[in-house]
Amino acid sequence: MIIALDGPSGAGKSTIAKLLASKLNYEYLDTGAMYRAVTKYILDNKIDIYDKNLLISSLKNIRLDFNKSHIYLNGVDVENTIRSETITKEVSEVSSIKEIREFLVEMQRNIAKNKSIILDGRDIGTVVFPNADYKFFIVADVKIRAKRRFDQYKSDQTLEQIEASILKRDQYDSNRKISPLKKAKDAIIIDTSNLTIDETIEKIYNYIRG
Ligand code: C5P
Repeated sequence: MIIALDGPSGAGKSTIAKLLASKLNYEYLDTGAMYRAVTKYILDNKIDIYDKNLLISSLKNIRLDFNKSHIYLNGVDVENTIRSETITKEVSEVSSIKEIREFLVEMQRNIAKNKSIILDGRDIGTVVFPNADYKFFIVADVKIRAKRRFDQYKSDQTLEQIEASILKRDQYDSNRKISPLKKAKDAIIIDTSNLTIDETIEKIYNYIRG
């Protein structure tokens, strides 16, 4: 059983996915963390993403593992470091590269094979698993999304800066040529603007359990 949760930044996908997975006793895959970990590798190793040959050979040196909801890049736990401002700023450009998407989409399909799993991302219901059993498109007002990020990460950025950064990332993710952020035709829209986490989970759970 595959459940796809897609939507823009800060709509609550990962929080919802994690809690719903534990309620259903399913696995959970944070595909955004995978794009962030690859971005970290590229920045750390100063790889020119537009040098295709170098990029393709570099991807062979990247190993991603998961343990207890943490992502490991070549054996190192990077769950927290991949949330930095620098990586958040660069990740959309890195994730617009065809070779990187192909590399990670194949990995995502292999990880999810024959599992009961919830994946959250931008293209799960449209590209990675177009035949997913359930597809949800999670949205929320941008001001509310910015406030949630502000409260969640206690960063040095102001609320206005976070809102601007979210809007920029949404725009980049929605307008890229390959696998843009887009609602799958058959996805159910869940607007979390005025819902608590528990209410959101209940709503999705009711769709799944009929
Ligand atoms: O979900 P999160 O905000 O951590 O994702 C970081 C970035 O990774 C997104 O802004 C997007 O550019 C990229 N991404 C993607 N496809 C996915 C998941 C994330 O392009 N399935």
